[in-house]
Amino acid sequence: MIDSHAHLTMIAPQELPGVLARALAAGVTDVLVPATGPEDLQAVATFEVDTPVRLHRALGFHPHDARHLDARWQATIESLLDTSGVVAIGEVGLDYHYDLSPREDQRRAFRWQLALARERGLPVVLHHREAWEDFLAILDEHPGLRGVAHSFTEGAEGVAEMVRRGLWIGISGMVTFPRGDNIRDAARAAPPDRLLVETDAPYLAPVPHRGRPNEPAFVRHVAEAVARARVVSPGAIEEATDASFRALFLT
Ligand SMILES: [Zn+2]
Repeated sequence: MIDSHAHLTMIAPQELPGVLARALAAGVTDVLVPATGPEDLQAVATFEVDTPVRLHRALGFHPHDARHLDARWQATIESLLDTSGVVAIGEVGLDYHYDLSPREDQRRAFRWQLALARERGLPVVLHHREAWEDFLAILDEHPGLRGVAHSFTEGAEGVAEMVRRGLWIGISGMVTFPRGDNIRDAARAAPPDRLLVETDAPYLAPVPHRGRPNEPAFVRHVAEAVARARVVSPGAIEEATDASFRALFLT
């Protein structure tokens, strides 16, 4: 079982040994740790914990932090991409819900990072919220990209748009929420070889842990909810999502 998106650098260092022991006990073999910006870029690049769980890194600026992505930070990202364990650029995208960075800055940072991903031959971890049309338009400026639309919320039609563009679908703990019908639709619509599961820890804890800090061990609840939505066994989802992760990030 693989957690394709967990912000382990946002979990208190004293909590990490327990978090990773529980992940291991739950059968989690790999975790992808994405960066979000100036606050955690170096932390993700240098993140080391003594654990048998394999940790992979994604480096980039989240749309919330896009306004900070100047030439100096661009050079920092470029140089850190050679760090061992870096498998992707992310998370990158557009977030017009919070608008924490001006939209023009978000689009500029998104375009620059997609171009960098193509130049380096790296997949991307994509974040989008309430920016669907611009998100698709900018993706279309960069044909041939590989990546995952993480914590996907756009339903079955959105899945088709992503799959048509060669992208993967990341299903988060929202698939367990009572109001998660669109997420369950997405989980049903995604081809098994394009399906990933994630926690987005420490955010978005799934049922039955809602309201508490999320952690990679809980990815099992996500996989179980995806299995229920697709009417297959949890083992089949584990196998499919492990293979999807390896195909996208580790080959
Ligand atoms: Zn995230």
